[in-house]
Amino acid sequence: MGYLLSKDQFGEAMRQLGKTYRIFAPVCKKGEGRFKDVDLVRYDFVSDASEIELTVESDYAFKEFMLPLSETLFFFTENQVKEADIDERPVIVFLRSCDMHAVKRLDHMYLENGSEEDWFYRRRRDLVKFALIGCSKSFDDCFCVDMGTNRTEDGYVFSVDESEGMFRCDTPDPAFAEAFAKAGGTEADVEPWCVTENQKAVTVPEDIPLSIYSDELWDEYTKRCVNCGRCTIVCPTCTCYTMQDVFYTDNGKVGERRRVGGSCMIDGYTDVAGGGQYRKTNGERMRFKVLHKIHDFRARTGYDMCVGCGRCDMVCPEYISFSNIINKVADAAGKEAGDDK
Ligand code: SF4
Ligand code: SF4
Repeated sequence: MGYLLSKDQFGEAMRQLGKTYRIFAPVCKKGEGRFKDVDLVRYDFVSDASEIELTVESDYAFKEFMLPLSETLFFFTENQVKEADIDERPVIVFLRSCDMHAVKRLDHMYLENGSEEDWFYRRRRDLVKFALIGCSKSFDDCFCVDMGTNRTEDGYVFSVDESEGMFRCDTPDPAFAEAFAKAGGTEADVEPWCVTENQKAVTVPEDIPLSIYSDELWDEYTKRCVNCGRCTIVCPTCTCYTMQDVFYTDNGKVGERRRVGGSCMIDGYTDVAGGGQYRKTNGERMRFKVLHKIHDFRARTGYDMCVGCGRCDMVCPEYISFSNIINKVADAAGKEAGDDK
C-alpha cells in the first residue's frame, strides 16, 4: 500500500505518529559545519516534519541513537550495580538505503557476534523502527551501487520521497498506513526511489593477497592522514568503543561506567601494557581500517562492512578518498594475481 500526500498531510501524519514515537532524523544545522557559514546535517529528535532534511545527505550517521558517542551503562557503589535508565519511548529513525544496510552490520556485530547479545544495544534496538528516505539522485561521494546497498526492499515501516512539494510513501506496515490514510493521503502504487548508478565506481577485490600488508600503497597515508578519526566517527558501520570508569568519590568505590566511541585511526587505540603499540603509523592504521571494511568482515559474514555511503570521503580534512583506496587495493591485488600467472 502506498500514499501520495501534500506537505501538510505528511506533516499531519508525522504529528499523529509523534504522539507514540519520538522521531530521530537528519536535520540541517545552520552554520554548524566545518567552515564559517557552512551547514551541517546531523541526526536529532524532531518535533515537526518540516525539520526533517530529506534532500541533502547527512554528514553524520543515524547510529548515534543505538550507539551514543558516550553512554552511561551502569552505576556502581561498593557492592551494588544498577543499569542506567533510558527513555523507553519507541523511536522512528529516518535513514537512506545504504544506512538500512548498515543496520544489518550493526545488528551482526552487537547481537550475533558471540554467544551473548550486547544487552545495552539490544534494549535500544528494540525501540527502533525505520523510515526509508528514497534517493532521487546519487550524491558526489556515494558508491552504494557497487557495494550492493542502493536498494532496500524490506525492514522499513514506511518510506518517503519528496518531489515538488508532494510526498510519496510506501507503507508495508498497516499500522502506519492508517496514519497516512487518516492524514488524508491518496492511495497509490509507490516504490521507494533508489539510484542505479553513482559517479564513483569501486571494484572490491574478491581475493586480497597477504602481500597487501607490506604494499607501499599505505605509505601515502602515513604522510597524508592526520589521524583525526573523523572518518570513523561519521561511518555508519564503525563501532569501536572504549570503556571509562568515572569515580565520584575519593574512596574510589562509587561511580559509573561509560561506553565511549573509539577509533582505530587515532593515537592510543592499539596501546598495550608495557608501552607497546600495534599500529604506530597512520598508513598501518589505514590498512587495518580498509581491510576490515572490505575483506576481514566479509571473511566472517559473507558481506562487506562498508556500505558505500561516502561520508568518510566527505569529512576527511586531508581529502583522502576511501573509494580511491579500495580501487588501489584492487589494482594491487590484480597485479599480484597477474604476477602469479
Ligand atoms: S578523516 Fe582523513 S585525516 Fe582524519 S583519520 Fe580519517 S583518513 Fe585520516
Ligand atoms: S567506510 Fe566510508 S563509505 Fe564505507 S560505510 Fe564507512 S563512511 Fe561509508
